[in-house]
Amino acid sequence: MMRSILSPAILTLSLVTLLVASVHDRVHAGEPASAYTLVRNGLLIDGTGAEPVSGGAVLMKGASIEAAGALSEIEIPSGDVRIIDAEGATITPGFIDAHVHLVSGEGDLFQFALGTDWSYKVLRAAENATNTLEAGVTTVRDLQGSPPGLKQAIREGLIPGPRIQLSVTGIGGTAGHTDFEMPSGVDVVPTLYPPGAPRPRADGPDEVRTRARQIVRAGSEVIKLWANGGLATPHDQPQYIGLSIEEMQAAARVATDYERPLAIHAEGLLGIMNAIAVKPQSIEHGFYLDKKAARAMAKAKIILVPTAVFVSQPTAGLPAYFRMKLEEARAAAREGFQHSLKAGVKIAMGTDTGYGPRHGDNLRELGVYVRWGMKPMDAIVAGTKNAAEALGWDDRIGTLEPGKLADLVIVRGNPIDDIDLLAEKSNILVVMKGGKVVKDRRASD
Ligand SMILES: [Zn+2]
Repeated sequence: MMRSILSPAILTLSLVTLLVASVHDRVHAGEPASAYTLVRNGLLIDGTGAEPVSGGAVLMKGASIEAAGALSEIEIPSGDVRIIDAEGATITPGFIDAHVHLVSGEGDLFQFALGTDWSYKVLRAAENATNTLEAGVTTVRDLQGSPPGLKQAIREGLIPGPRIQLSVTGIGGTAGHTDFEMPSGVDVVPTLYPPGAPRPRADGPDEVRTRARQIVRAGSEVIKLWANGGLATPHDQPQYIGLSIEEMQAAARVATDYERPLAIHAEGLLGIMNAIAVKPQSIEHGFYLDKKAARAMAKAKIILVPTAVFVSQPTAGLPAYFRMKLEEARAAAREGFQHSLKAGVKIAMGTDTGYGPRHGDNLRELGVYVRWGMKPMDAIVAGTKNAAEALGWDDRIGTLEPGKLADLVIVRGNPIDDIDLLAEKSNILVVMKGGKVVKDRRASD
């Protein structure tokens, strides 16, 4: 009798011990915090915008960078140092995508929203996270849809993926870009966000303030707002105003109180001007920026996250409303980007993968910037240092400098000569995240 009572308890304890041990192993396997790694024999582009250094190297200790520069100038510690030979390829920081949606459907949005179980969406998100990491993107900002459990699973090493700054959900007004209550009366919204997450719809400064606090409580590390409409929804236009300045200011105050960055979706010009008045860290999309708005953004030091690959996506197969809005916005977005370049607006890479661009195609974004007039080195800075600043994580990531996390990519060829090299996954030879090699395809070539 005693035995039959005790056994399940012992079994449960053993299982718990086993689970804890296996999680622990995956996090720390082969990675003593004091171990040195030297990446050498590459063209070093450190993400600061400085000239590339040939014969470059990066010395790491555990998860952090100790030194980066010409190999001849780095003091190599005595004793065991793991060597990773870049074989003449280019060494860059791990890239950062400041605008993704890891939980998102490719194909029909409504079919994915209404016809798919949430657990399946999360499993798909895990695959999307892996594809993103293998493309050389070691950090993403997820601006709606992904649950805190996805971030936790990646952090614990249960699944491979980039480190995530999470919004969980954002805030938009009734009839705004995120109001998916259909003419039938069916509200699609609960299917687009993690079960139990706060709903994005809120009106009036008081309700917006409460919602912002609820979103912080739900695990959000960045507050996302919708200042106006967008392209991927059937019922609104990019120029329709969403939240008012007063409503956005209420959320901005919560962002300040809880030390979260503020990211505002704004596509039409009036929404962009409203967003500028609220002074967020970043404006997302900014398609219809004109000269005056670009100058105001530069003056207020607001970062633009252009999602150029989203607005450049092929229109074949898209619903008619989406196609029409996209075609109209495309030319405007290119012009808006050029106004921003001229005015000196800081630009950070963000793609909107999940709403057109595929997870893992993130670095195609940089090719569009170059075709729209940006210098290749500036495009790399947009995808590293500037994106880290948009997240407010530039003290930890974004450049290959002492003290920062050892997030690093080795890419075949020289992306300054051909920026599109970065978009081809087979050119991403090695990816390191926090000093750990998470992809290495040198031997397979
Ligand atoms: Zn988005």
